[in-house]
Amino acid sequence: MASPFESFHFAGKKALIRVDFNVPLDKQTYAIGDDNRMRAEVPTIVKILKDGGSVILMSHLGRPKEGPETKSSLIHITGHLQSLLTKAVGKEVLVQFANDCIGQEAIDKSAALQAGEVLLLENLRFYKEEEKGDAAFAEKLSKLGDVYVNDAFGTAHRAHASTAVIAQFFAPENKMFGLLMEGEVKAAELVLHKAEKPFTAIIGGAKVSDKILIIENLLERATDIIIGGGMAYTFMKAKGGSIGKSLCEDDRLSTALEILEKAAAKGVNIHLPVDSLVADNFAADANTQVAESNQVPDGWMGLDIGPKAIDSFTAAITRSKTILWNGPMGVFEMEKFQAGTKAIAIAVAKATADGAYSLVGGGDSVAAVNQFGFADQVSYVSTGGGAMLEYFEGKVLPGIAAISNS
Ligand code: AMP
Repeated sequence: MASPFESFHFAGKKALIRVDFNVPLDKQTYAIGDDNRMRAEVPTIVKILKDGGSVILMSHLGRPKEGPETKSSLIHITGHLQSLLTKAVGKEVLVQFANDCIGQEAIDKSAALQAGEVLLLENLRFYKEEEKGDAAFAEKLSKLGDVYVNDAFGTAHRAHASTAVIAQFFAPENKMFGLLMEGEVKAAELVLHKAEKPFTAIIGGAKVSDKILIIENLLERATDIIIGGGMAYTFMKAKGGSIGKSLCEDDRLSTALEILEKAAAKGVNIHLPVDSLVADNFAADANTQVAESNQVPDGWMGLDIGPKAIDSFTAAITRSKTILWNGPMGVFEMEKFQAGTKAIAIAVAKATADGAYSLVGGGDSVAAVNQFGFADQVSYVSTGGGAMLEYFEGKVLPGIAAISNS
């Protein structure tokens, strides 16, 4: 069935789209580093332009503290956006820029916009009102377009003026998710509510404290939870192991034990790394050796999962029908400690080729699959780090609720 966005005919309409163009810019040249978020937005914009509508884009960029600043100006991305859209549409698409997201210039340029044209507004966060969720500011933004499209999954967990508050100024039939947001929500819903079993969640990254809520929610849903990365050592220590100087949150030892107890009571298999690649230093040129994860020698630290852990994690992943991956297995930014994360990416890709549904979401695991070239071998790569994490924690995301509940 066609979605509200797909079935909406945008001819003659000005669509005000909240996008997430928070892309990394070079500090000196302002050249765009990773443009994935911009590319991900192209289909939504193109559908509106092809319908005969016009598009007004609003986004944030960086974390400006005190109003406008050159390094956080969206003007730096205008040229690249224009070339992406021109290529996608197949003819020249002019992207205009308004130096302020509200005020006369934005009003005039929006009003003058013709079918097939695009206007990019300056950074929303140049106004404190954006993050405060100020209703008057949201209302001013709302006046610029006829239809509100929220396609900013990356900020859907924030109740900001442009992501949530603005929705109240549009009639139910004139507000909707864009294609990117629809895709994100569909992927997350599939994993959270319609997961085919066995369902393996792979949770890694630095800290247990960041992942407690997601693990607790997954205990209700997954058949297997793989725990890797720095957070595994808090579990190892909680179970009585020696972890040397590996990352550990001593104030979370009892939480780790509780998680293990709950998992046992619910029949969820928790997989911890039996062995680790340990290093004598947190450095790219550190000396390394393989050790049992509960017998890390004094003065050494676990910076990646070891070969036995890779084998057992791979076995669990390849028998799965649904896979969620959040967080790397080691310090994958350094080549010496990449093997674990890379092996997991290979296993997830293999399981996907064999028919499993795989979603990679939330922060550094997304960077890892992109870096290792596996992004097109998994079912879905989320563009939203924090938002995806909160979704899997079972929270209601304001950006989604503002449209779904009206
Ligand atoms: P997170 O944002 O919580 O997903 O954590 C990602 C970070 O965890 C990455 O920067 C990794 O380098 C780091 N990380 C993964 N494994 C370890 C480890 N064993 N020790 C220290 N840091 C780690």
